[in-house]
Amino acid sequence: MKNLLYNICFGACLIVLTICIFFISPSVYKDDAQTSKQTEKTSNAPVVVQCRACQFDHPPQIYLLAVNTGNLYSLSRDFSPSPGSLSISGAYDDLSKTSLNIVNDGKQDYIMAYLRQGRDMVSLKRMKTIYCTDCLDKILSTIDGQTITSFVLFSASDETFSPISDGLQMQGEDYALNVNYDVNNNKMQIEYNPI
Ligand SMILES: [Zn+2]
Repeated sequence: MKNLLYNICFGACLIVLTICIFFISPSVYKDDAQTSKQTEKTSNAPVVVQCRACQFDHPPQIYLLAVNTGNLYSLSRDFSPSPGSLSISGAYDDLSKTSLNIVNDGKQDYIMAYLRQGRDMVSLKRMKTIYCTDCLDKILSTIDGQTITSFVLFSASDETFSPISDGLQMQGEDYALNVNYDVNNNKMQIEYNPI
């Protein structure tokens, strides 16, 4: 008798439990589905407002593009310092610990840019917020296997990217450019000659 009562109680409990699971489960799964859908939606949402490379109206010239920030540094001579005076501008990328110095020497008819990279590091997360997918892919393939990965050359006239590599020679309509790597000082030297 005791066993029978126990079995009835146990059976009843099982039925109640099954009913509860039947009613509760769909809402739990539904919530999960919504959550994952929202996450997916968020990750697919376009985070780039305006691509720093191709969607800005840059004057058509050659630039040094800081990969991690999207900042462009012009190599053309905006002004000629008087002979004997020197103009130096620069930038520093904290993530890759890269320093850039652009030297405009009144005694020379060319401009020199020097890049010294502390560590090979670019942030994909950051890049996704400043470049469109097309430019992001192009930049990543441009820096692949290069000594300098924190900067690339960017030609705004035809929106092309070039690696800053030892021995590189480029020529545009109004410039000639060559790159040499100073191994002893771990410094990439870019000589920009206006034509
Ligand atoms: Zn772009």
